[in-house]
Amino acid sequence: MRLLFWLGLVILVILALKKKIQPPATGSGNPEQPLEPGNAGSQHAGSAETMVCCAHCQIYLPASEAVQRAGQVYCSQEHADLA
Ligand SMILES: [Zn+2]
Repeated sequence: MRLLFWLGLVILVILALKKKIQPPATGSGNPEQPLEPGNAGSQHAGSAETMVCCAHCQIYLPASEAVQRAGQVYCSQEHADLA
């Protein structure tokens, strides 16, 4: 069992060294860069925010910036007070 443990340790070290020491690009050159496998997710939830309409001046604004009062949505505290 002890021999297996050491064997596994040696294999792990070799794998770690292989990962660390990347061979430099060969002289022959590989002009074509492989595409990145991980598609950088460009889906931003922030850009698709719900837009609401002010009940007083009918201006559209993000729901996170709206002022809600009595079931209506307003663009500002002033308009909420005016209604
Ligand atoms: Zn308004």
